[in-house]
Amino acid sequence: MEVAPGVHRFGTDQVNWYLVLEGQKVTLVDAGMPRHWTQLHDALASVGRRLGDLEAIVLTHAHADHVGFAELARTRSGARVHVEAGDTGKSVRKLPNMGLYWRPTSWPLLLEGLRNGLLSTPPVREYTIYVDSQVLDVPGFPRAIHVPGHTAGNSALHLPDRGVLFTGDALVTYDPYTRERGPRLLLDGVHEDAAQARVSLPRLAELQADVLLPGHGEPWRGDPSTAVSQALRA
Ligand SMILES: [Zn+2]
Repeated sequence: MEVAPGVHRFGTDQVNWYLVLEGQKVTLVDAGMPRHWTQLHDALASVGRRLGDLEAIVLTHAHADHVGFAELARTRSGARVHVEAGDTGKSVRKLPNMGLYWRPTSWPLLLEGLRNGLLSTPPVREYTIYVDSQVLDVPGFPRAIHVPGHTAGNSALHLPDRGVLFTGDALVTYDPYTRERGPRLLLDGVHEDAAQARVSLPRLAELQADVLLPGHGEPWRGDPSTAVSQALRA
């Protein structure tokens, strides 16, 4: 589904990933869960592109439900993976904290993960580091906005000329752990540093965009500052 000019949303009920088109070339923003790989071919075909057109894979952060098929896509297509410096520690892949899954509301996410290889997500072996405020030289030319807390390297990606702000897991419109909807922060326990996630969030309120595209949930149309104040109250 095209959610902004040349920006298409894919994924499942639980997690999103996106294609950004620039000429014939494509950037993949986040990479779902490993077995969502089988959707990539059809996703590219639906926008008239092929695997060879994939030039870059930009991760908003290194949690396994966003790293997913990144390594497979990298090795099969030759695309480069880009990740913020803070998420490149021991390996570019952070597995979920299984202690979060006692809540029955999180079981659809758990089931989706178990069916789609989440716990054996391959780490990314080769990657390029990006840092705050950098304009990435990839299709769509996103600018990285470092919003640490969810993870140390957690970043939003801003495409001002298309009115798009990818918020990753800094601000979501669906929390797959609680199944609550609307602009919000994820459940506290999901963040590496929940207090920092809250402190970072107002940074997004300063940006201009028409649509916010989160890691989880529907696109949100409106001003980032409105979404941020709703999320801080939610
Ligand atoms: Zn996530």
